[in-house]
This record gives sequence, C-alpha cells and structure tokens, in this order.
Amino acid sequence: MPRLFVLLRVFAACAALSTATVFAAAAPLVEPATEQKITALLGQMTLEEKVGQLTQDSSSFDLTGPAPKDAKPRDRYERIRRGAVGSMLNVCGVAAVREAQRLALENSRLKIPMIFGYDVIHGYRTCFPVPLGEAASWNLTAIEATAHIAAMEAAASGLNWTFAPMVDIARDARWGRVMEGAGEDPYLGGLIAAARVRGFQGADLKAPDAIAACAKHFAGYGFAEAGRDYNVVDISEQTLRNVVLPPFKAAVDAGAATLMNSFNEIGGLPATANAHILRDILKGEWGFNGFVVSDWQSIGELRAHGVARDLAAAAQLAITAGSDMDMEARAYGDHLVGLVHSGVVPEALVDDAVRRVLRVKFAVGLFEDPFRHCDLAREKAVVGNPAFLATARDVARKSIVLLKNDGGLLPLSPALKKIAVIGPLAADKETPLGGWRGQALPDSAVSLLEGVKAAAGPATKIVYAEGAKLLSQPRDFAHETVLNTTDRSGFPAAVAAARSSDLVIMAVGEDAVQTGEARSQADIGLKGLQEELLHAVYAVNKRVVVVLMNGRPLTIPWVADHVPAIVEAWHLGSEAGHGIADVLFGRYNPSGRLPISFPRAVGQVPIYYNHKSTGRPLDPEGKVFWSHYTDVANEPQYPFGFGLSYTTFAYSDLRLGASTFSAGGSLPVAVTVTNTGKVAGTETVQLYVRDLVGSVTRPVKELKGFRQITLQPGEAREVTFTLTAADLAFYTARGVWEAEPGEFQVFVGASSRDAKSAEFVLR
Ligand code: BGC
Repeated sequence: MPRLFVLLRVFAACAALSTATVFAAAAPLVEPATEQKITALLGQMTLEEKVGQLTQDSSSFDLTGPAPKDAKPRDRYERIRRGAVGSMLNVCGVAAVREAQRLALENSRLKIPMIFGYDVIHGYRTCFPVPLGEAASWNLTAIEATAHIAAMEAAASGLNWTFAPMVDIARDARWGRVMEGAGEDPYLGGLIAAARVRGFQGADLKAPDAIAACAKHFAGYGFAEAGRDYNVVDISEQTLRNVVLPPFKAAVDAGAATLMNSFNEIGGLPATANAHILRDILKGEWGFNGFVVSDWQSIGELRAHGVARDLAAAAQLAITAGSDMDMEARAYGDHLVGLVHSGVVPEALVDDAVRRVLRVKFAVGLFEDPFRHCDLAREKAVVGNPAFLATARDVARKSIVLLKNDGGLLPLSPALKKIAVIGPLAADKETPLGGWRGQALPDSAVSLLEGVKAAAGPATKIVYAEGAKLLSQPRDFAHETVLNTTDRSGFPAAVAAARSSDLVIMAVGEDAVQTGEARSQADIGLKGLQEELLHAVYAVNKRVVVVLMNGRPLTIPWVADHVPAIVEAWHLGSEAGHGIADVLFGRYNPSGRLPISFPRAVGQVPIYYNHKSTGRPLDPEGKVFWSHYTDVANEPQYPFGFGLSYTTFAYSDLRLGASTFSAGGSLPVAVTVTNTGKVAGTETVQLYVRDLVGSVTRPVKELKGFRQITLQPGEAREVTFTLTAADLAFYTARGVWEAEPGEFQVFVGASSRDAKSAEFVLR
C-alpha cells in the first residue's frame, strides 16, 4: 500500500473523534456466491482437512527461527504443512505471520489460508484506556475510534482477527476481569459492544485496516460465584436473557464475525458444551452465521468440569453444542475424525462448523490474498505511529471520572508554588498500560509524574516521593505477585515532601498485574501500605488529591470521607499522565461517568443499580426486618452513572409528550438542563425506566438512553428522548422478548441516584 495512503488513513482515524464518524455495520457474512465457493471447497476436503480448519494453535515458538527440536509443542510446523491447523493465535508481526502463512500455503494440499487472531483488547501498540475505563467516557464515537486505530495497527502487523470486545456484564469487583468489559449495565454495554465491533471491522471486513471482531465470553462469565475467576455461574434464564445476553446480541447485530466461549458452567452445563446458548439462542434465534471459537483449552476443561470422561468425549460435547473452533485443546485435532468415523458425531456438524470458519476467512479477504496484511513497509508506517497519541490522550481524559472535589480544590491553581507527587504509581510507566496491553512497548506510558511536570507552569515546583512500593517483587504477568506490606523506609521522604508543599497529588490503586484474568481479589481496598502512607501524608497536609489508578471498583471509605478531591483515572494507556494532567490543571473539564457501582464495602458485592425491589425493599420506621445490612448502607459509595464536573448542572421541567402511549407509538420525554457554574462543561443526561408491575419482577431502574451535551456557563438546553415499546421490552414470563402494558416510571438525571421522575402508561 502506498505510504501516502497509509498516512492518510492514520490521520483519518485520528480525525474520527471530532467528526463523529460512525461506520455502517459490516456487510452480512452470507453471500450466495461465496457460499457456492465454500460448498465446492468442502466437496474437495478430506475429513482430516475439515478438522484442520477447526483447529487453532498458539505460537509457542519463533516462526522465523529454527523449528523446535522436541516433540512439544507437537511438531507444529509439520501440522501446519499438512493443513491440520486452520488458525493461529499469538503470532504477531508481519515477518512471523508471513512465514506461518507461507508454511500453510506452500505445503498443504488445498492451500487454505490460516486466520491469525490476537488479544487486541485496548490497543495494539498504542494503548488506550482499559475497556472499563474507556466505558466511563460514555462516548461511543471515541470508543469506536480507538477500536479502529487498534485494528489499523493490528492489521498492519499481519493480523486478521481480534479476541475482542469482551462484553461480559459484571457486578462483582472482586472479579479481575471487570477491567476488560464495559461495566454492569446491559444497555450501555450493548452500545459499547456495537461501537467496538464497528471500530474493529469497519464497513468492509476486506478493508486493509479492518480485522474481524470476537464478542466474548459467551456467556455468563462475569457472574462467577464470589467473583473468583473461572468459578461456577448459576443464573436464571431471566438474568441470562435480560442482563447477560443483550451486549452479545448487540455485537451480533453490529456484524461481529465471531464469538468466543466462556470458561464457566451455567447452572450445571459448561458454556463450551451448552447447546442452549450456542445453538438455540445464538445460531437459532439470532441467526448468527459466523463461528464460535472455544476459549483457551476450554474444550479440554470439560473433563475437569466433570461432564466429559476424556478428551474425545469433550470434543463430542463441544462440536455437538456448537463450538466451532478448538483453541489449543487438541480435542478436535486428535478426536473429531474418529468420532465421525465411528458415527458418534455426524459429519454434517463438522461441515457446518467448517463452513462458518471458511465464511469468515472469505469475508476478511484471505482467499483473495492470504498475505494481504503482510506488508513490512505498512507495518513500519502504521504500528505505533505517533499520530495516534492525540486520540489516546483525548480518550484518556474523557475516561476520567471526578468522584469528589470539596472546596473546589481542583482544577489546580497556577498560583501553586510547590506540588508534591507521591505514591507507588506516580512515576510508574507500566501500570497505566493495564492488563492485556497487546504489543505496547515496556515502560511506554506517560506517567502521572511526567504529565504533571509537563503541564505545571514554570512557577510551580514539583517534588516526587514514591513513599512505598506496591509489589515486593518484579511485576510478572505469568505468576502471582506478592504485595509489599513491610517496607516503610520511603515514608519519611514522602511526609517531608507533603509537609513542605502547597498540595499533594497522591497516586494509589492497583498495579497492572493486580487486575485482569485470574486476578480475583477478596479484598478490593487499597493494597499494601498505600492507605497507611496516605494517612501519614494527610496528617501533615490535608490538601490531597487522590488519583486512583485501577482496573476495578475499589472500596475506599476512609478516602471518600476524608480526602477533599478524588480522581478516578483507571489504567489509561499510553498517554495516561498527560490525560490526567489535562484534568488536574483544568485543560479538560472532566466528563466521565461511572459504568459500574463503587461499593462501600466488599461485603456489598455483587452490587448494581438495576437491582430488584425484593418483597421488603425498605422499612420507613427503620425496623430490622427489611432487606439491608445492619453494618453498612445498601447504597454504593459512588453509584452507576455518577461523575462530577468543574461546573454544575441543574435539571428542570421534566415533561412527557403524553401520559399514555400504545405499543405502535412513541412517547417524547424532555428535560431542561442548565449549566449553573462558571465554566463550560459536558453533561451526560441519563434516562432510566421502571416497569412497576410485570409478569416477573423487574429492576428498580434500567438505563434506556443518554445524551452527552456541552453547555457554556449559564446556557440551558432542552434534551429530548423518544421512548418506544422496544425500550420497555424484556424476556417475560411467557418466554418472549416483549413489552407488557401497564404503568411505568421514567427518570431523567445526572446519575442512577440523582434523577427526576414522572409516570406513564403503556396501553
Ligand atoms: C482468555 C481469553 C483470551 C484467550 C487467548 C484466555 O485465557 O480467557 O479472553 O482471548 O485466553 O489469549
């Protein structure tokens, strides 16, 4: 591809944020001409070759180096050569992809190209905020734009497919993977899922900067009991349909080419062997035509779940249920041919799975040019192009949530003479990259300290003290990392810096290695010595701004009660420090809103705003027999949808177009929002509904719409929504997705907690 064209695409991607580019959904995967080609190809394939298409290997060797001598990993070169591998993961970079593809094409009988997948979760080389953080922007245009840049970089690096977006709804911050999703709400989660799919896939999967998306993990993974990763999930059909599945449906409707199984069981049946979700719902009701890849060895894990005696039985269960491609378990590769020959698995099931895989390979253009993403010059020009950093910075600051700002401590005054930047994460250039950082370069994030130094005026002196470390040993993503709980030798310097400064910025939270897969935690407070350090600092200087860097909601009751300013800054990616400094110094008025509730105590989880009423929702007289804790409030510390600004907004005059409407009609809802402060600001106006009486119990509030508006000081604007019956539909007692006539409440306001309400009737 000509260099100029590449650069134009780079700049076009960066402009996407401001021009609100929204791609049309990708073209449908099923095209009659392609289906004929697939039929013809299937006709030529041996059963072994078919099973090869359903097999995905990870690269555990250097494709451009010598072949492994040992039998493990089992003669992978040889397997690629004979067409026994249809896909690879973890092969990155044009040179490696080209070499692997060459092995397949030059040696296999039918020369079917492999498809290369990778976990491009929040960026490839340029890192954007972790998905939960980015969800806090509530800015679908921005979210789509970062997914698009990630796709550009990944495609330029030889890849065709990302294992993203993760669309698992999560209500339990103990689960480390909350960091990878969009939070607790199915409506917001669905919109974000679709935006990410559009960003990755664009309007044309064959475009040079598009990669196939993979909505994961299907399904229910976020409901792991006790927040412990991989644990049992036991949810009702109601919760499955109304809460878990909507973001998957949104991803499928947006054209997601693939889905990934989840590791968990659902009520006794592992998702990988679950025909109800895979065949009945996904491929049946939703008409999904792409393919389903297992999660890493999740077919093999059917043995540990205790539903398969051996790997052959696991393969049988998985293919029968509708899992199309086996990631790394070797179950299909070793057993599917035998299972078909012995009549246990009908070949038609294998054919259907192969058809789905080939369909996606055709759709991404691999049959036209198997080396289409293998251009070294393009890789050099696109991957890590500095032009992407402006978007990374803009999305970083849009993702920040201002949780507290007593006395208007923020934004920082240019008159400050000395600022102390303290804390284990203050100078950290790794943690902002978060978990699943793709091919981000080590230590490549702008640290908070660097950001503050760059933003502070010449009259302000910046002093730094680490205070305490978070980890007692080097960061290691493959092993458990132990916390440091004893070394206080850095305290005196931190306290001295705090004492002699006008203000303290204190960076605390979680190391990147403490969130993500397999990083469940029973204690979600500030780890190690962080709170003790904070107490010591606060004792000598009360003007403290706590900057939280974390991948999950944290319990911070002491901080919330004492420290005057709290900034939720997640793990914000390559430009983290600049993004945070933009907010601290008022160059950007914070506009993020929480996509997930922040509990007061870990004992409250799972906690979520769209909970049910129960039969004993509250006792006005405060007696004991109602649904509550006796030692902590029911309410979270910070609710879903919450976030402050440097200005204030007033809501007035909530009005409905009518008091009733019928199923075929619609209901206009309007509210007036006024900027009552002194600076311009962006407000996220949120609309919730409550179905007062249903055939099954209904949530006390459900988000059904939001608008982001920017208002100048004193400016007022009418914000309008239109409700239809579709907004009120749910999976009813009849087992149908429909709206039930009756009375509803509508709420419009600044968060799930702070909203005006009115009532209407659906006839
Ligand atoms: C994760 C998936 C990921 C896969 C491949 C698994 O452990 O659960 O989300 O896509 O590994 O890296």
